[in-house]
Amino acid sequence: MSCMLGVHPADARIWSDTVRRDLALALENHKPVAIGEIGLDFFRGETNVDTQLVAFNEQLDLAITLGIPAVIHMRSSEPLMLDTLNNRKSLPELLFHSYDGSATLTDWIIGAGAYIGVGGLATRSKSGALQHEIRRVSLDRIVLETDSPYLAPNGFKHRRNTPESIPRIASFLAGLFGIDDATVARQTTLNAERLFERLPPAR
Ligand SMILES: [Zn+2]
Repeated sequence: MSCMLGVHPADARIWSDTVRRDLALALENHKPVAIGEIGLDFFRGETNVDTQLVAFNEQLDLAITLGIPAVIHMRSSEPLMLDTLNNRKSLPELLFHSYDGSATLTDWIIGAGAYIGVGGLATRSKSGALQHEIRRVSLDRIVLETDSPYLAPNGFKHRRNTPESIPRIASFLAGLFGIDDATVARQTTLNAERLFERLPPAR
């Protein structure tokens, strides 16, 4: 089991120089595979916009310093997310987790060679537009995720999502791309190993 570490945008109000120093120390000590989830979340209104931006940018800087990827959480914040990323001098490798972006963001991701995480959200019957965007992303830029305990895929027997649902996500993607499940499993595993260099190799 490997971990990532970071201050989630929902907790951005705690961000301070002390928290940044503590996080930098924890990142050095625990060698997580990524910094995350970090990002911008205005689902409950545009609160703490400035603090969220500072926490997000300073954690992107930490990821660059440490040479590890950043895993992005983005909710109700796409225009400011794109502005923020476009206004930076440099970026670490990026994974947009539980991807749910527009065509504009998908274009940006394709151009930047960033990764998207696909999970239960994409399997839902109302997710036609999302499925269309996912189909535009190259399969070698997609990783599978649960976002456990949330977002169980369609037809999963438990309400609480667990890694047990991952083969179902792989099957779903295989259907979307018109390829077989084993190809999706192999390629998304390779992608995860390429993105998260510190992951121990899969058996
Ligand atoms: Zn998230």
